[in-house]
Amino acid sequence: MSNVNFTVLNVYKFLPQSNCGKCLLPSCLAFAAAIVTGSKNFNECPDLAPASVDIFAARDQSPRRKEVNQAVFIDKLREKFASLNLAAIAPRLGATVKGDNIVINSLGKDFVLDHQGNMSSECHIIPWVQAPLLSYITHRTQEEITGRWISFREIKGGIEWQGLFTSRCEEPLRRLADENPDLLIDLLAMFTGKSIDWYEADIALILYPLPKIPILICYQGPDDDLQSKLTIFFDACCNTNLHIKSIFTLCSGLVQILPKYLNITVE
Ligand code: SF4
Repeated sequence: MSNVNFTVLNVYKFLPQSNCGKCLLPSCLAFAAAIVTGSKNFNECPDLAPASVDIFAARDQSPRRKEVNQAVFIDKLREKFASLNLAAIAPRLGATVKGDNIVINSLGKDFVLDHQGNMSSECHIIPWVQAPLLSYITHRTQEEITGRWISFREIKGGIEWQGLFTSRCEEPLRRLADENPDLLIDLLAMFTGKSIDWYEADIALILYPLPKIPILICYQGPDDDLQSKLTIFFDACCNTNLHIKSIFTLCSGLVQILPKYLNITVE
């Protein structure tokens, strides 16, 4: 399936073919053409079968396609970034300004951006941080942290992304935690997290991938026949402060780099 050639007709075969119009196009064939040209994303069809979602998601994750998409997206964000008054927006972002640069903290590490959106950091620059970070800075509205936690599906657009979020973020992190009992404790130390005791779980910790994007990771280890459980919650302010796609990118990126950071092997 991963070798599917994405012509219009091939894409069409994986669509519901009901011409319902929910994607705001007149037909599934028009939607297939829009997917191929890149003007529509597969998740804009709410009726895709799970098997089709997997096929399209795999295509979007293919290294070459991912690179091209990412580069175009980052260029657009940089353009927007260059027009901002950084000193004016820094306080509402939880950021600071040093000279002409804005400094923003992600998981305990400072990232510095010059007025053109070029980024430097004490740690290695990783693409998965760059896009959500620029997206966060260029986002029009920012709300203060509320202390109220919501699930991923409660975030605007979350229902459509829920399947991918579970398979790319929560599930791999749960398996990593099962195989590496100290993983979540290490996360606390490495990423300046905060452990909390008011959630009933073996371990619950709060991380700040961005200053006003707190995430709460709750893990309950396996017990007799019961499988372990891992859930990621978000402060309700995330609904306002970042687009769902960037929230997903932040979480999946975090999960992907963990084995490398912690020097552990993934099966
Ligand atoms: S929303 Fe999906 S099923 Fe409906 S017309 Fe668009 S592609 Fe076809």
